[in-house]
Amino acid sequence: MTLHDAYDPDNIFAKILSGDMPSVKVFEDDVALAFMDVFPQAEGHTLIIPKDVAARNFLDMPTERLGAYMERVQTVARAVEKALTPDGLVVTQFNGAPAGQTVFHLHFHVLPRWQGQGVRGHADGQMADMTALEALAQKIRPFVA
Ligand code: AMP
Repeated sequence: MTLHDAYDPDNIFAKILSGDMPSVKVFEDDVALAFMDVFPQAEGHTLIIPKDVAARNFLDMPTERLGAYMERVQTVARAVEKALTPDGLVVTQFNGAPAGQTVFHLHFHVLPRWQGQGVRGHADGQMADMTALEALAQKIRPFVA
């Protein structure tokens, strides 16, 4: 996958958007969907994806749609911070496989960090227990409502 390949409508996040794949959702409106990362690098690792757009990465995103989407990224980041009270928060995004991207539908990561605690490597985390993810999502949801 290069930076400028065609959008694959069968990518995992497109399937989550269409409902063909399950996800543990924390927020959804007409602009974006946020859900728990199933291979979390840290507790509370959350992803925010834009809806109704064939954007593989940040470069592809139509500029006029970016503002509304980034507002949702901030809403979710604030909710994660309020729900889990980490000491820090990484908000990040990868463009193209050489940069670390593994799923080719635009997404931002929200990654809580606690002082003195490391994080698992990007895209090599262990699959999370779904019950534990749901418990985290339940903590976050009230803060995005
Ligand atoms: P990136 O490597 O930046 O493209 O990020 C993709 C992220 O999606 C990684 O952090 C993966 O752990 C996560 N991921 C992959 N498959 C799923 C899935 N089915 N549900 C939730 N998160 C996923």
